[in-house]
Amino acid sequence: MITIIRSSANSEERAQLMNLLCRVSGSQRPIATIKMNGQEVIALDDSIFDAQTRITISQQSAVERIVPIKTPYKLVSRAFKAQDSSIVVGDALGGRPVVIGGTSPVIIAGPCAVENKEQLLTTAHAVKAAGGRILRGGAFKPRTSPYQFQGLGIEGLHLLDDARRETGLPVITEVMESEMVETVAQYADILQIGSRNMQNFPLLRAAGQNSQGRPVMLKRGLAATIEEWLLAAEYIVAAGNPNVILCERGIRSYDTQTRNVLDLSCVPLLRELTHLPIIVDPSHATGRRELVPTMSRASIAAGADGLILEVHPDPNTALCDGRQSITPEELQRIVRETGLIAQVLGGKAGLSYAA
Ligand code: PEP
Ligand code: MN
Repeated sequence: MITIIRSSANSEERAQLMNLLCRVSGSQRPIATIKMNGQEVIALDDSIFDAQTRITISQQSAVERIVPIKTPYKLVSRAFKAQDSSIVVGDALGGRPVVIGGTSPVIIAGPCAVENKEQLLTTAHAVKAAGGRILRGGAFKPRTSPYQFQGLGIEGLHLLDDARRETGLPVITEVMESEMVETVAQYADILQIGSRNMQNFPLLRAAGQNSQGRPVMLKRGLAATIEEWLLAAEYIVAAGNPNVILCERGIRSYDTQTRNVLDLSCVPLLRELTHLPIIVDPSHATGRRELVPTMSRASIAAGADGLILEVHPDPNTALCDGRQSITPEELQRIVRETGLIAQVLGGKAGLSYAA
């Protein structure tokens, strides 16, 4: 259930409501209010409430209205917000603003990892020239083996800052630890939470509380169900950051031919379940650069709001994920072809997601 607070409610009326909600939900912590859609709201699991409790809550003078939500995720649900969320990124740190979830798909591209200044700046200029709108690059890399390249850390953030200054492209980079959210938010236009951290709840909360207004791109966990993924997004929103972007990057299966299995059916399904923008990552989903162009086109045809692609000036020498990295020339072609597909489909308006 979502309780919408009357904007004119005074502090006494609010306190009365909070006391009631704490009591009926058995909460030991103070109940948090979130600003969303220009309204102050409180999301609660009301499955343990009886009918009379719901009526009592709705009759509180601080309450404008109650929205019943059946799913365990509340604030990110389509039932709460019927219109698609669109998120403006890149306006805080001097980059050129980009809208994710608007009428045209956004291509995010760049190396898996920031390796050095020349590699990043060469790639950034190539991404811009190819029509990419946002630069990606990992400064802190979550690697499966402790002996693999772990990223340049803070130095990588400085290089991303340089690349934004030189090209005007907003940047996205991964944050792996809750303590680092504030630092990464000083440099990144979008914070990425990687697949391996999708259920790192302290990190999700920190991204909700300390990201200084930066949007968060939440990648689907290696073997996460769609409900688990939406609940992870709910953590970020419930902690105070409504600007969450979902990223499908493939899920684990038994076949070793591809790195993961790209679950494209999740795109139209998510459209029914949530108002959050959806990005697809065909690079990590397939793990093979020759499959990336086709799956990029398919993702946009399925209605994704954009793509995140790994690009390297010389993929065979990449320190990380070279096998799935495409060249700038291939990126240019993907930008052109996906743009044409989006045009033919008439943007999101041309795709029907109705149940
Ligand atoms: C990445 O984007 O480089 C990355 C590590 O992705 P994922 O978390 O999806 O594996
Ligand atoms: Mn990668």
